[in-house]
Amino acid sequence: MPLILVTGASRGLGRELCRQLLARGCSVIAGVREVSQAPPGTEPLVLDVTDGDRVAAAAEAIRQAHGFLDGLVNNAGILLAGADEDLLHLPEDVLLETLDTNLLGPLRMAQAFAPLLRKGGRIVNVSSGGGSLSSPSSWSPAYCLSKTALNGLTAQLAVALRPKGISVNAACPGWVRTDMGGPGAPRDVTEGAAGITWLCLDAPANLTGRFLRDGKEIPW
Ligand code: NAP
Repeated sequence: MPLILVTGASRGLGRELCRQLLARGCSVIAGVREVSQAPPGTEPLVLDVTDGDRVAAAAEAIRQAHGFLDGLVNNAGILLAGADEDLLHLPEDVLLETLDTNLLGPLRMAQAFAPLLRKGGRIVNVSSGGGSLSSPSSWSPAYCLSKTALNGLTAQLAVALRPKGISVNAACPGWVRTDMGGPGAPRDVTEGAAGITWLCLDAPANLTGRFLRDGKEIPW
């Protein structure tokens, strides 16, 4: 029974991912900022991905409780709607706050938790088509830059962790109806999370350093 840690498990895609992983028989550790927000059936782990000391303490708690991990899903993310509108007038603090959560968060998590991942372990970074360099847009520039950078982190982590037999991939869930995606998005969370579940449990073990949506490779 794989043991998988999901960040941003309180709501949206992360919460649905926990549900899907539990339904497949996994043990799920829910990374949440408030313990009461952990989905039913999960083991809550209080962490804020912008707090390096808290992330390190959380990794130590999991090392003591379990000693290992099979999967890490870096799902927690922010989009500062209203402030992240126009690249040519983008406030520096908006970019820095976005990068702190969406890029440095996954890096902190990988640095802290990779030592616990067993051979065959998997890291999935929840990215976005908005970060793709092949189809740039003017929409939410700080968010898109953060996901482009997350894709770069994914490629570098895949190389760094290949010798340990750990795969690292980026997953785009599509445009999904969540607090972030809004009510007009075409996909529901079940559909959006399915490709992440696939990467956690069903993708070939040697698939690494890729960017995928619904289990199919997409351009960086
Ligand atoms: P959401 O509904 O806004 O949920 C965001 C989650 O991230 C919440 O659980 C939130 O926790 C958590 N979070 C935010 N900042 C955090 C921090 N500093 N530390 C720990 N947790 C933090 O968003 P979503 O739509 O489910 O998005 C999940 C992921 O999918 C994100 O990485 C997003 O960029 C990506 N994505 C979404 C879409 C879409 O259309 N929805 C499309 C492409 C990619 P709290 O409840 O504590 O705030």
